Amino acid sequence: MAYNKHVVLAVQRDFEAKRRASEAKRAMRLEEVYALCPKIREIDEELRKVSFEIVGAISLGKEECALKIEQIKERNLALQKKRAELLVSLGLDASYTELEYECELCKDTGYVSGFLCKCYKEALSLKGYAHSGLAKLLEKQSFESFSFDYYKGEDRRVIEQNFEELLSFAKNFETDKRSFLLYGPTGLGKTHLSSAVARYLLDNGYDVVYESAQNVFADFERDRFRDRFDDEVELVSDKYLDCDLLILDDLGTEMVTQFSVSCLYNIINTRLNRGLPIIASTNLRSDEIRKIYHDRITSRLFGEFTIQQFSGQDIRRQKIIR
Ligand SMILES: [Zn+2]
Repeated sequence: MAYNKHVVLAVQRDFEAKRRASEAKRAMRLEEVYALCPKIREIDEELRKVSFEIVGAISLGKEECALKIEQIKERNLALQKKRAELLVSLGLDASYTELEYECELCKDTGYVSGFLCKCYKEALSLKGYAHSGLAKLLEKQSFESFSFDYYKGEDRRVIEQNFEELLSFAKNFETDKRSFLLYGPTGLGKTHLSSAVARYLLDNGYDVVYESAQNVFADFERDRFRDRFDDEVELVSDKYLDCDLLILDDLGTEMVTQFSVSCLYNIINTRLNRGLPIIASTNLRSDEIRKIYHDRITSRLFGEFTIQQFSGQDIRRQKIIR
């Protein structure tokens, strides 16, 4: 499990910004309140002194210390009470100058007793969606929202099998290192199911990248002309080789050139050697794939990928007709 480092950094920055904004807001409110009622400033100074007295009390004998702390507590409570009353008398809420948190559980730190807070995981998922290139698709497409109603007879049996296989793959991602080739005409659920896998994995902290083959190859092409000797420059195309799961959409629609073919070979070879799965989808038939790509690519695709066929009546068209 490896959250993408850009995603983690971005979320960390968001949380820091959240805390800073909350502290700035509190400072502003304090100034406002002090101006309205100088007595509250005095109380706050008093409260600060009281907290120092606690430190002093620790050096006393056990019984004396307990007694002293009891006294300090009482004074503290009395001061707090007075402070709250003053705020209310100004027509403000008693908690007006408290720090406000979006998440009370972790107080916007992102952690609860050393573990990632729910809010932090959600933020990572959302950033992950955006980073994966899937933000729009993931709003709707999940395993839960997949409908078998549009498939009939043998098509339905096949789609149910594809669904189960991909769901099991997502659930067992840590150990299941299969790659998939999804093929068949458009509008039969290839994108929906591959997005569902992506969403499931992003929600569980994996780094998923979803991109059309055409854009992937374009990124590699651009990176060719970057300064490869500058360590500071991070190649855009690295993510296609490094992410936990690569979803390569619409294979075969790119302009097939010697460069794109060698790119594809590089991606497949590098990822499979590293045990990093790929889900590739294509509208091409298997004979068309064989015609377009090299033997060394097709032998890996058909030899090492789990092949899933998608067949039936275009769902988008069915939805329009209904
Ligand atoms: Zn939280």
